[in-house]
Formats: sequence, structure tokens, C-alpha cells
Amino acid sequence: MKLGSFEIHTISDGTFKLDGGQMFGVVPKTLWERKAPADERNRIRLSLTCLLIRTGRHNILVETGLGDKFDAKFKDIYDVQHPTTLLAGLDDLGLEPEDIHMVINTHLHFDHCGWNTRRENGKTVPTFPRARYFIQRGEWERAANPTERERGSYREEFFLAAEPQTEFLEGDAEITPGIRLEVVPGHTRHLQCVSIDSGNQCAYFISDVVPTAAHLPYAWTTSIDLYPMETFENKKRLLPELVRKRALVIFPHDLEAPCVRLVENEGKIEVQAGGQVGR
Ligand SMILES: [Zn+2]
Repeated sequence: MKLGSFEIHTISDGTFKLDGGQMFGVVPKTLWERKAPADERNRIRLSLTCLLIRTGRHNILVETGLGDKFDAKFKDIYDVQHPTTLLAGLDDLGLEPEDIHMVINTHLHFDHCGWNTRRENGKTVPTFPRARYFIQRGEWERAANPTERERGSYREEFFLAAEPQTEFLEGDAEITPGIRLEVVPGHTRHLQCVSIDSGNQCAYFISDVVPTAAHLPYAWTTSIDLYPMETFENKKRLLPELVRKRALVIFPHDLEAPCVRLVENEGKIEVQAGGQVGR
């Protein structure tokens, strides 16, 4: 997909499941189940969507999916399915891990940074040997020392080995012309979204601020969010702005529509009819 002089591609790292109640917070099941049917264990299926940006000079990866460093118990709890992987998707585009110049993680929850590292001869090593990795310093510190409340969301072996290649940011940053990281607190304190601008066109990787299109209503926030009122306020600020800018919005976990344009309809933000763009 063209975006000004850039090219952007969504790449799937397969799917997994999370508890539906966890994903929809205070929304009653009778309402959310219409959007996301639950299985017999009350879980709903979610995509693991990564984004590749090719600026002409750099190949930039946003998120690295779930990876493969988990055991049978983890696979069962989250029902991880890998009909394809991030690495296979890159290969389809003619790219090797060595060809990635930058890796951006919006935050370090295990479903966003799995391929930051991989195992090689019993050791965990960075998957992308020539990349600089970008994360907010505060997010890294929380991920490496989680409280009991957050512990289930982080897996040290997914990110720690890439530390020598990591750039720790403190606030918003334009890491290369047209690629801007913006701190949007709520889901975690230091989550960063990715704004991509080229030739008057804009795309926005919104991360778990709005994990799927079903989460567009302002009050539909997850109960995983550490600061749900901040997610709520940030959605109220951000979503109308993305409508005005006619931005392509990329959701991290939407199975049907990973990349859409939005419209405002009587105060409600919705996916534009026919506004789903590619995969
Ligand atoms: Zn998350």
C-alpha cells in the first residue's frame, strides 16, 4: 500500500485468544458478544498485526507479534495459531531479518514484542541483528519489574536480550523524517502510538488504545488498561483528529479489518463504509 513516498504493509503473526471480559472492561457480555463471539472458555480470537514501513531509506517494523518462545501450557491458555508468522510475512516481501533497520514496540506486552528475540543454540538473541529497537524508557522499566497487577502481561525473555540494541525514549520523538512516536497513556503509562506521515498522507498505528474496531466507542476500553480514564480521554481527543486527517488507522488485534479509515457519525466514531484498506 502506498502512503506518499512510503510503502506500508500489515503483516500477520497469526492469532491468539484472550478472555472476552478482559478485552471489554465494563461493557456487559450481552453487548460485546455481538461483536466478538466467545468460545466455551469465554475467550475471543484476536489478530496479531504488525506493520512494515518502507521509507525508501529504512525498513521499519512496528510490533513483532507473539513469536515462538512459549510452551504447550501457554499455547493452550492463549490458543496461539500460527498459519503464518511475522518472519514468513517478511520473507514474502523479500526481506530477511538483517534487512530491518528499526523496530518500534508500542509497549512490551507479550503479544507485541514476541519476535524482538529468538532462540539460537539454546541462547536468546535479538531477531533483527542490525536494527535499532525503540521503546519508552518507562515502559521498559515497568516490563522488566512488573507489579503483581501487570505480571501476566510481560515476558522478559521476549525483549530483554535486545537491550544492547535498544534506544530508550523519554517522551514523543520523530525517529526519522515522517515517523513520529507519541506517548498515549492509558493502557500502560508509557504506551507509544506511531504516526506515519508522507506527502500529505497519514497512517496511525493506534496500538491497544483501540485494539479492534469494536473498541471505537469511547467507553469500550479493556480491563487490562492500568489507567482506563486516560484511555477514555485520549480516545476522545485522538479519534476525531484521525477522522479530520483522513488517516489510515491500523488496529493491532482486529481479525476482519486491520487497516481502516474512520468517520464521525452523530458524535460516534465508526469505520467508514468500504473504508477497509487491504490487509
Ligand atoms: Zn497491551
